[in-house]
Amino acid sequence: MTDLLLIVLTLWGLSGSLLYLYQRRLTRQGQAERRTGEQDTLYELGVGLISEHGVQALFQKLVDRSVMLLEAEGGAAFQCDAERRWAECVAFTKNGEIYCQARVDFGHGLVGRAAEDGATYSEIGRVEVADAPPGETALLVVPLKWQNEVKGVVLVMRRANQPFTEDEENLLGLLATQASVALENARLIEVERKRSEELEALREASLRMTSNLQLNAVLEAILEHALKLISAWDAHIFLYDGEHLQFAAALWAGDVQRSPFSEPRPEGLTYTIARTGKRLVVEDARQAPIFKDAAWDGAIVGIPLRSKNRVLGVMNVAYEAPHRFSSEELRILDLLADQAAVVLENARLFERTAADRRRLRLLYDITRELAVSTDPDQILRRALDLTKENLGGLLGSIVLVGPDSKHLRVGNLAGYEGHDLDGLDAKLDMRVGKGFVGWIASERRPALATDVLEDPRWSPVPGVDDEVRSALGAPILVDGELLGVLVIFHREPGVFEDEHLDLMVAICRQVGLAWTNAQRFRQIERRLAEQTVIQHAAQVINRRMEMGPLLEEIVEQVSTTLGYDYVGVSLVEDDSLVLMASRGHDASAFRLEFSQGITGRVARTNLPALVGDVDRDPDFVRYFPGTRSELAVPIRKGDVAIGVLNVESPELDGLTQDDLRLLSLLADQMAVAIENAALYERLRRHSAELESTVASRTSELASALDRATEADRLKTQFVSDVSHELRTPLSNIRLYIELLGQASLDRQPSYIETLNRETERLVTLIEDLLSISRLDAGTSPPELVRMDLNEMSRALVADRSKLFSERGLSLQLRLEAPSAEVMADENLIAQVIGNLLTNAMHYTPSGGTVTLRTECSESGNWVTLSVSDTGVGILPEEKAHLFDRFFRGSASREMKNPGTGLGLAISHEIVDRHQGRIDVESTLGEGSTFKVRLPAADRIQAAPPATPGRGLS
Ligand code: ADP
Repeated sequence: MTDLLLIVLTLWGLSGSLLYLYQRRLTRQGQAERRTGEQDTLYELGVGLISEHGVQALFQKLVDRSVMLLEAEGGAAFQCDAERRWAECVAFTKNGEIYCQARVDFGHGLVGRAAEDGATYSEIGRVEVADAPPGETALLVVPLKWQNEVKGVVLVMRRANQPFTEDEENLLGLLATQASVALENARLIEVERKRSEELEALREASLRMTSNLQLNAVLEAILEHALKLISAWDAHIFLYDGEHLQFAAALWAGDVQRSPFSEPRPEGLTYTIARTGKRLVVEDARQAPIFKDAAWDGAIVGIPLRSKNRVLGVMNVAYEAPHRFSSEELRILDLLADQAAVVLENARLFERTAADRRRLRLLYDITRELAVSTDPDQILRRALDLTKENLGGLLGSIVLVGPDSKHLRVGNLAGYEGHDLDGLDAKLDMRVGKGFVGWIASERRPALATDVLEDPRWSPVPGVDDEVRSALGAPILVDGELLGVLVIFHREPGVFEDEHLDLMVAICRQVGLAWTNAQRFRQIERRLAEQTVIQHAAQVINRRMEMGPLLEEIVEQVSTTLGYDYVGVSLVEDDSLVLMASRGHDASAFRLEFSQGITGRVARTNLPALVGDVDRDPDFVRYFPGTRSELAVPIRKGDVAIGVLNVESPELDGLTQDDLRLLSLLADQMAVAIENAALYERLRRHSAELESTVASRTSELASALDRATEADRLKTQFVSDVSHELRTPLSNIRLYIELLGQASLDRQPSYIETLNRETERLVTLIEDLLSISRLDAGTSPPELVRMDLNEMSRALVADRSKLFSERGLSLQLRLEAPSAEVMADENLIAQVIGNLLTNAMHYTPSGGTVTLRTECSESGNWVTLSVSDTGVGILPEEKAHLFDRFFRGSASREMKNPGTGLGLAISHEIVDRHQGRIDVESTLGEGSTFKVRLPAADRIQAAPPATPGRGLS
């Protein structure tokens, strides 16, 4: 930027010098009319050069104008390449075409020398290029220098008899200097263009400030020269935007000022000049009507600063006292004003280029950033942020069209601190066709309000947009449909211009495109996710057979892969829905009546429900505070819903027809899966039942086998025991028969007695064996008759009393049962009682008492017969074996009692066969009691199951 300042200052200086030289030349020539003409030409040349921004065109202009200015016959311009050290012809006039494509090395010929040492050469000589015509020519070669570097060379030529004068040399020198400034200017602009990347870093605010500062400094420099040249008291420059004047630079009291001496009056001189574009000269303010209301007696000239047909500003120069402006003074001021206009125009162009660049950059940034985003929300947010950040603004928002195409709601906000979306929506209550944003939405056109207070479309919302004065917005269209409106607001009026509007439209187009792309991307992503879920669901269904884990896994899949906020599966049980699996909210063990809720309705009607706004559905029952929309599909078995799959979203219209399609598909799969699972469950239960039946049968068989094995063992044992028991008496009998043969007569009776005893024992044993084998074989079942135990007891006691008393024992009878009738086999029961009395007699020492007692149970169902003795008693460890076959206790051995060890076993078998029980109680050394319980003949209740017998079969 300093370069630019330097250029302008140099230009200004040059103009002064040009004028001076011209004055001199004109004086010498004394040709007033031509003077003015030439002066204007020179001035125009300078301005023309400066406004030229292309290098080649500039060289062409330079050579054209040099030839014209010096009335030469031809000319050429060369551009220097310092690195390669040559000067190349880049422009030429008609007669200078011999230089076409000429390339001159530094140091060679006039052009080469000028290019090398930067000096001016004027000679009469031959043109030093190939194909040059013969004969001599007057040549003037002037370098184009910028900061001591030769940038180019201009050459003019005419007939040898018209050599170039010193004045002409100077004139061309000045023009060349001007050209080199313009060249540098063009180069700078070129560089500026190329450096757009770096310049981008300078943001709008700083750029504007810098350029303004620079501009002011240049304008101040111009004013300084104005004051100096015409010795005036103050000078001002105001900028004009077509409507308002704005202070730019001021000089008074000998100093640069930051504010004007006085603000321009609306109908005053400065505004008049700005509006009319005409210069006004007031030599005495007291006389001028335009100053009639101002108490001021100075003089002033105001000159419009024009570029093409536009007034860019006004330059005023004033005296404190009346002053006659000479034409010289006015011409100088005109020149300066033109310089200032060029500066302003350049600054304006520069600003516009910079602004264009910034806008392009913004658009590029937005395009680049949005193009890579696949998140529609992010696209809108970033577009808004970038736009607001770059266009400046107090507030910005993206407003979206609701599903009814009538309501608008805020999608994104920037700058609305302290407002939440919902609250703001309620306050704004935006609709298509209403207010500024509504206008854009209904017209689908961009809109710019330079001052909202004067815009008929504006409808203010107190508390929200009180500070807004400018507004700018454009529609965002997606495939021709309105998505929403991007709008930004500014605190100052008039800050947005048409360029901003164009930019806004371009941004919105990009947003629309990016949004479409993102949307498509999402659709593809969604399709992929759906396929994955369906595939997974199919896998799960094939793999999982149990209902619980199956539903859990499907719900998990749907929730994670498709990202629903809430997913639940409920199954019908009687007249309600029971939640089986869910994700997203804690909804465990949840039961809902058929008459309740959207899911209840779906189960009832067997039809899916897509509810965009749950609050508008009369069936909706709220369980989760955040739910705004819901989708429920029936899981069908034929025409009946066996369950419901439902998803919920925290957004209004958060679920779509796509979701409905997908969930219906899943629900169908789930129906199959659930059916399979139910079948599997039934099968499983059945096989479990089978299994347990088989197990119990197996265990029964096993115990039967155990019993058979035991019976077999007992049989073997029995046979060996019987053999042993038989062998003893038989051996004795054989022995005593032999002894009897040899014995003397006196011993014979003793042998015969022994033989009788042994035979008796053998008979008893055989009888016992026969008894037990009959019982085991079951061949003769007990012949049950009604009999009275009292009666039988009485008879048995009567039979045995004598035998007992012979042994010194007392046999007592206690018939305590009033009625002791039982259904029994009389012989067998008599055998049992006989056995017990015999044992009591054997194991009770002389002097003891044996008591036979009958009793009746309280219920009357049982009759008990017991035989108690006051005998030796039984060892506790022997009790468990008393009823085993062939068991004989230690008492039998000690008391040398005869016996087979079968009596109690036989008794037990007999009692068993009568569905009765036999038990023993005994105290060692005190006596024993054997109790036989038999079911009473007239009992009321069924008899308890008999104790398993000890039979052999
Ligand atoms: P035995 O032929 O040995 O009497 P039992 O089967 O009748 O065979 O009796 C088995 C065993 O029970 C007897 O050897 C004896 O040890 C014991 N026993 C039976 N009755 C009595 C009793 N009243 N007092 C003591 N011990 C008894």
